[in-house]
Amino acid sequence: MSHKYSFFGAVEKSFDKAARFTKWDKGILEQIRQCNAVYQIRFPIKRDDGTVEVIEAYRVQHSHHKTPCKGGIRFAAEVNQDEVMALAALMTYKCTIVDVPFGGAKGGIKIDPKKYSSYELEKITRRYTAELIRKNFIGPGTDVPAPDYGTGEREMSWILDTYTAMHPGEIDAAGCVTGKPITQGGVRGRREATGLGVFFGIREVCNMTDIMQKLGMETGVEGKNVIVQGLGNVGYHSAKFFQDAGARIIALAEYEGAIWRKEGLDVDAVFQHRKKTGSILNYPGATNFAKTGDALEMECDILIPAALENVIDGQNAPHVKAKLIGEAANGPLSPEADEIFTQRGIIVVPDMYLNAGGVTVSYFEWLKNLSHVRYGRLEKRFTENMNTHILGQIEELSGKKVKGTARNMILHGPDEVDLVYSGLEETMINATREIMEVWKSNPDIPDMRTAAYVVAINKVATAYAQLGIFP
Ligand code: NAD
Repeated sequence: MSHKYSFFGAVEKSFDKAARFTKWDKGILEQIRQCNAVYQIRFPIKRDDGTVEVIEAYRVQHSHHKTPCKGGIRFAAEVNQDEVMALAALMTYKCTIVDVPFGGAKGGIKIDPKKYSSYELEKITRRYTAELIRKNFIGPGTDVPAPDYGTGEREMSWILDTYTAMHPGEIDAAGCVTGKPITQGGVRGRREATGLGVFFGIREVCNMTDIMQKLGMETGVEGKNVIVQGLGNVGYHSAKFFQDAGARIIALAEYEGAIWRKEGLDVDAVFQHRKKTGSILNYPGATNFAKTGDALEMECDILIPAALENVIDGQNAPHVKAKLIGEAANGPLSPEADEIFTQRGIIVVPDMYLNAGGVTVSYFEWLKNLSHVRYGRLEKRFTENMNTHILGQIEELSGKKVKGTARNMILHGPDEVDLVYSGLEETMINATREIMEVWKSNPDIPDMRTAAYVVAINKVATAYAQLGIFP
């Protein structure tokens, strides 16, 4: 995919659109906007066939208003400096909106990972890490990478191993990267975090009576008709959490097409069907649609694009019938689509904070690594003992016994995953309310995306002011 426009330029444009609604000086705004450090790397690797190839790679630290910096590492053939800069900037804004105390960063290696053996990928990842160490571009207190397109737990393990080998005795070394396997300092709940965050964010919007009245819908997620595009990590988990909360998943779309069923689809059953047959199509009882894009234009309450960027543009936006759109993917809407939805009174919940569940739980993982203790380890047994006592007293006084699930619910002390979910829920609810308040406080702010940028700019500028850099 070649970029017809500068991605970083587009981010700057959104930034400028929002900056008008803030009180900050030009100089401060300029400092926030720019990338603080751009590191371009070239290094050779020997391929399995004996040839030597020069690899192009980047790490961009967009903002140092808080350290460490944080952002994923992408392995993709399209990686270029402009893209990495834009994604790093978005990370700064994303972190600040969800109160994750990191500056934004991003990394990229320009390779199509499918074209390399796992041995070659390991060599590339380890060499990249060594190059980051050389320039102090990685470390629990300086810059903490995470997975992105084309990378996962495996690559994070290689990074951790390389870093620890070169920093013997560094007690906090595990905090140099997040998205690790649980056996290597990862945190429970990280895998589903982004999808769960999407659900929490949309649920909070659906609980706002005034917003729902404006959209002509009842409050609450229950009974809503939802369409999800992309049944990958983010899409699958988002769909599943919506279904568990009583929403109807009336259509699901993958690149091979879409399926629709008025009464709702069972997300897990569809997932298994696709695993077995290799396609989402021909699911028993559902209607097939040849194009994935068809699902975007169907009648529904909530539309969740969770696959790729730029799937809704000026062409199809006029045909979208959803009342609420949740950007689970990064950049699924073009700026033209954004304008059209604003005019049509459709609310777009922006990617920048809606898919921040991943980085929020990465933050929890980093905290776990620095504290060297699993969440819940200290309080679980204490809470269970206390609850047993309280329930015992209630039962004695009332002469009645609490049984079954209710009993288990009351007695249960928190496991790591309970605390991670709870922290994420709190984070997403607060972020949604904060953005909505800013949006409502100024009728000139055209959309929720601009309101989110306003929140981000205000927080980064305030942090700089607190550092005494801009008194
Ligand atoms: P993924 O690779 O797990 O899933 C993407 C899914 O979309 C795949 O199942 C793929 O087959 C499907 N897909 C591809 N092309 C499609 C098309 N044309 N139409 C319909 N479906 C198509 O990736 P993911 O991690 O779920 O990420 C999805 C999006 O969410 C990306 O934009 C990513 O940047 C964003 N995101 C992911 C995370 C995370 O924690 N994974 C965090 C923030 C943002």
